[in-house]
This record gives sequence, C-alpha cells and structure tokens, in this order.
Amino acid sequence: MALTDAAQRVQVSAYPDAYAKHEPIATQIVNLLTGGAARAAGDSTEARCATGGEVAASGWTVPVRALIVSGFRTAERPDHDGVDLGAGRETPIRAAAAGQVITSRCDVDPSGRLCNRDGSPSTPGCGWYVKVRHAGNFVTMYCHMIRRPKVTVGQMVAAGQELGDVGTSGHSSGPHLHFEVYDSSRGDKIDPVDFMRNVGAPLGGKP
Ligand SMILES: [Zn+2]
Repeated sequence: MALTDAAQRVQVSAYPDAYAKHEPIATQIVNLLTGGAARAAGDSTEARCATGGEVAASGWTVPVRALIVSGFRTAERPDHDGVDLGAGRETPIRAAAAGQVITSRCDVDPSGRLCNRDGSPSTPGCGWYVKVRHAGNFVTMYCHMIRRPKVTVGQMVAAGQELGDVGTSGHSSGPHLHFEVYDSSRGDKIDPVDFMRNVGAPLGGKP
C-alpha cells in the first residue's frame, strides 16, 4: 500500500492526495530516527526477524547475540528488572534502536574507579552503563560494561551502533549484559524478551 493511501485510511482527509507531498521528508525523518525502518513501507512483503547485526524493519536490533541466562522479574529474582544476556567479555554492545544517549557513567562512583575493575555480588550498582531514549517513549539500559562507554550524554546513536563492551563491573558475578527496557507511557520497566520479540529482534542465542 502506498504511504499516502495508508495515511488516508488512518485519518480521512477531504484532500486524499494532500498526504503525498509529505512522503519524502517523512520517510527521511523515519529513516534517520530509526536507522532504516521506513524501508518497510515499500517492502512489506518480506517480514522476518533480524538476526545479530541486522536491524528489523521496526528499527530495532539485538544489543548482543547471546543466550538468556536470567529472565525479567522471575520467581527466584522478582526484583530483577531486566534480562541477562550471557555474552563474553569484550563483546560489543549495540544500541537496540536509534535514539539519544541520556546516561553514560559509572554507577555509584563518578570517578569511574570502582567500575574499572570486575565487580562481584557484593558490589553495588550497574557498573559502567548507558541509557538511550528512543522514539515511542522507550528507554533502554545496558549495564556492567568493562570500561567507560564509547558514547556520551546527548549523543545521537543509530540502531546497532556500538555503545561499549561487555564486562562485569558493578553488581555482577561474571561477564554478561544486563539489558532493560523502560516504557515511559506505562511508567514501568517491561519484559525485554517480550518487547524485543514483538519488534522483530528477538533476544537469545543464534536462530
Ligand atoms: Zn541482570
């Protein structure tokens, strides 16, 4: 379906062709914001999930391709507000979608000293971590990086852009990525496994 027809279905205009003139700029904006999602509008016949290193038509991609080693708010860990992905030390962590970096720091130690070494179950906090705000009121968080993140607050990042590398800084018993998704419209963290599956970039091991 042409975008201008889709627009007319969503909001009926007395001038149905009026939407067409906005299409090129709209496509450009969506592509810039999402790292390529607008291409889905012209290529809706091929719908499949993104694998590691690919961006789904939704604009989302997996931050690391690794097994899920601990889930979101499980019976054993009801306070675990994210999912743990068992990637090895130094694995690049990628932005799950385009957005703006809103946090990039060492949790509990502004100097970074406490995050420049391996943490432990008795070390507090998220270690070196990054938060990115995305379109649609979503925020993603990436914890326990091995060293200072590669991005700074205010920076715009593309889907799949490297944010830092897997480590075990902060409250962590071994190298992994702790990944959280916050839905501002709901005012709560949500299950990243469900969310990423729904956007066509499912978490977990190799498909
Ligand atoms: Zn975790």
